[in-house]
Amino acid sequence: GSAPFLVCATAGTTVLGAFDPLDKIADICEKHGLWLHVDASWGGSALVSRKHCRLLQGIHRADSVAWNPHKMLLAGIQCCALLVKDNSGLLKKCYSAKASYLFQQDKFYDVSYDTGDKSIQCSRRPDAFKFWLMWKALGTTGLEDRVNRALALARYLVEEIKKREGFQLLLEPEYANVCFWYIPPSLRKMEDGPEFWQKLHQ
Ligand SMILES: *Cc1c(COP(=O)(O)O)cnc(C)c1O
Repeated sequence: GSAPFLVCATAGTTVLGAFDPLDKIADICEKHGLWLHVDASWGGSALVSRKHCRLLQGIHRADSVAWNPHKMLLAGIQCCALLVKDNSGLLKKCYSAKASYLFQQDKFYDVSYDTGDKSIQCSRRPDAFKFWLMWKALGTTGLEDRVNRALALARYLVEEIKKREGFQLLLEPEYANVCFWYIPPSLRKMEDGPEFWQKLHQ
């Protein structure tokens, strides 16, 4: 009798670098009134590349997105972003403990910038500041170059794998992940079957 209320899609899976079809998933979520979260921890960086951003087609329809600039964009670890479309103070409504001994309202700056009372933990590192500095220094095109280079190198690796005996590509990559098997000479003439895979794993 339980009813689902959220769909979590993945843009860039950790191992294969696979992307869910976000537009199609968003259609279903819209129809049934479901919250759409996109785990773009790994794949989100493709958004800064004009060449590759179509991998995330439809991500603007998500209610929330997780993204790690510390992965492909090379921000110093850690640099994680949780982006929410809601602007009604959702995080504050969910997490605020309103501890009056910590979060005085009579500050000399706009207290809506205080993040301490909007998250599960109180003290946080200023990841956003680190990312902002990096973005200022490199510019959007500098970040774009990093993504384009990573994907170009992945395509290059795929071509090299295809040329070499004993290497077997698992699938054509969508992103920067290149998954392949190395087949040692002793197994190259063996028939595909349980014994082959057991030996290969060993
Ligand atoms: C890396 C990764 C995570 C974990 O991110 P953390 O910020 O280390 O917790 C989650 N989902 C995917 C798809 C990832 O690649």
